[in-house]
Amino acid sequence: MAIAYLCLGANSKNRLTTVQQAVSLLSLAENIKLIRASALYETEPWGVKDQNWFLNMVVEIKTDLSAQDLLLKCLSIEKMLGRDRSREQRWGERPVDIDIIFYDNQIINTGILTVPHPRMHERAFVLVPLLELIPDFVHPVLKKSVPDLYDELDDVEEVCLYGTRGYSDD
Ligand code: ATP
Ligand code: CA
Ligand code: CA
Repeated sequence: MAIAYLCLGANSKNRLTTVQQAVSLLSLAENIKLIRASALYETEPWGVKDQNWFLNMVVEIKTDLSAQDLLLKCLSIEKMLGRDRSREQRWGERPVDIDIIFYDNQIINTGILTVPHPRMHERAFVLVPLLELIPDFVHPVLKKSVPDLYDELDDVEEVCLYGTRGYSDD
């Protein structure tokens, strides 16, 4: 059994429902047990600024899927929820995104999978929910704790607890 951390994000129409559906599809999957979930955050877009704000959260799961099979499962859930990469701009709007942030403390570099996620340490929308769940975890490549990675962020995009940003049409 491995413990893995997945970051979920969505910013299309019905982003709240889609994130909730992604969590339930993950928890219904054979071989995946949902252990804990962070709060839900509303976050400023990273990379491509001119788009709707995202909803993000991190879930902790236990799984006997290999990291590669876990990725395939995540990609299939994204597809079920309407994701079509052929119509997307990189880092642009998408119905749902599920990234593997950590898989135990393994370091994985295959053609289709890099774990820890190669850009997680540049992203407040990943680090803030991770701080809630695993403040003592040390990044196996960078050898830094989650709070240290957060302190070292250059640009800190806004990350607000969902519901605290005022008007929202979810
Ligand atoms: P980013 O990777 O910067 O967050 P993105 O999530 O928008 O961008 P996608 O189009 O969702 O990028 O993913 C492209 C490919 O990244 C996936 O098909 C997958 O093969 C690969 N990938 C590599 N490492 C990971 C990982 N740790 N988690 C999820 N996908 C990964
Ligand atoms: Ca992503
Ligand atoms: Ca992704």
